[in-house]
Amino acid sequence: QPVLAVVGRPNVGKSTLVNRILGRREAVVQDVPGVTRDRVAYDALWAGRRFTLVDTGGWEQDADGLQGSVAAQADLAMSTADAVLLVVDATVGASATDEAVAKVLRRSKCPVILAANKVDDQRLIAETASLWSLGLGEPHPVSALHGRSSGDLLDTILAALPEAPREKRAPAAGPRRVALVGKPNVGKSSLLNKLTGEPRSVVDEAAGTTVDPVDSLVELDGQDWRFVDTAGLRKRVQTASGMEYYASLRTKTAIDAAEVVIVLLDASQPLSEQDLRVITMVSEAGRALVLAFNKWDLVDDDRRNQLEREIDRGLVRVPWAERVNVSALTGRAVRKLAPSLRTALESWDQRVSTGQLNSWLSELVAAKPPPVRGGKQPKVLFATQAGIRPPTLVLFTTGFLEAGYRRFVERKFRERFGFHGSPVRINVRVRE
Ligand code: GDP
Repeated sequence: QPVLAVVGRPNVGKSTLVNRILGRREAVVQDVPGVTRDRVAYDALWAGRRFTLVDTGGWEQDADGLQGSVAAQADLAMSTADAVLLVVDATVGASATDEAVAKVLRRSKCPVILAANKVDDQRLIAETASLWSLGLGEPHPVSALHGRSSGDLLDTILAALPEAPREKRAPAAGPRRVALVGKPNVGKSSLLNKLTGEPRSVVDEAAGTTVDPVDSLVELDGQDWRFVDTAGLRKRVQTASGMEYYASLRTKTAIDAAEVVIVLLDASQPLSEQDLRVITMVSEAGRALVLAFNKWDLVDDDRRNQLEREIDRGLVRVPWAERVNVSALTGRAVRKLAPSLRTALESWDQRVSTGQLNSWLSELVAAKPPPVRGGKQPKVLFATQAGIRPPTLVLFTTGFLEAGYRRFVERKFRERFGFHGSPVRINVRVRE
């Protein structure tokens, strides 16, 4: 079901309005800075349509101050929701904080509905007109406390909410961008030559046409791929000793320009610090990762066993990486690169709906709650996948989650939803 996020600064009556929308009779929760509420997401029903209501309030004590935290709320709302409801206090008018939030929301691709709350009295309606200045369209007067016009507001919300939540964003147009990196002599040029035969080059449009062609178009498995920054590789410009800094800068640039990275390793040699550094760079840059073990023609049974041990020891931080064994010399298994690239990119692009994510997470947490810290049991309230490329989860909790528990959640998340070959980020936001 689609998600509506409610944003607004403290004391505008967000919680009262949330309760009003949910149609609850219970005591109204106080909308005061620092007051902790129990949950963040609620199931709402109006005119026969269900939607999820996410109350993004509750982080008023952000280090960036009130404006920063409300702007962060707005950002989060935009990346999470299918529509955003901004609540302002009509008796106060547009404050500087409201304006800051509106500025963020005006960039939003999802619909934004502006509610002018505390219009308890007919006479106040005229004053809501000043809220047009926020640039978010018509202000909708409402009195959350008395219920005045809340039905009209809900009709407006439903009209703005799409039927189905946005699941996956369309992938970028054109061939997917691949970087081929690895320390000198692992066989990058050889592999590129094997893959391309006759390389078709692509000129960097942004830099103009006068520069050297920097990228290569490569057809693998019936699909075009754009290998970025391959000019040096094709010219076989080898990195002289002492040039390591520049080589690593170049690697960094290629990784940043790519969506998926092939880190080429020499399977006939022990995994080195330099290899691990490049792998870490890819995962920190948040790119999809394929590890290609090259020179497989030189690998015998002994070396294979040794390599398995090196992998167990050295690659504990990227157990999720796609792996393929190849030989640029003989051409062995180079065809397998394309399926690995595709798998990694699928995970990189993948989005799990808020509903699926939370029903899975509540079961997981019930079966294995986070460890107690300082005598307190942190509760996991709600999660949302705030982004893709790489997939990024935000967990809302009542307390700090240890790194070990976060890794556990990540591992289970990967298993449950089939994420392979892409880093997954988990951010924890602690309420209170
Ligand atoms: P780069 O520095 O990563 O571009 O590495 P090159 O492509 O220049 O290769 C370095 C050396 O490794 C060359 O002598 C290649 O012939 C050799 N080489 C590359 N791939 C393979 C392979 O799969 N098997 C074997 N046995 N040698 C390879």
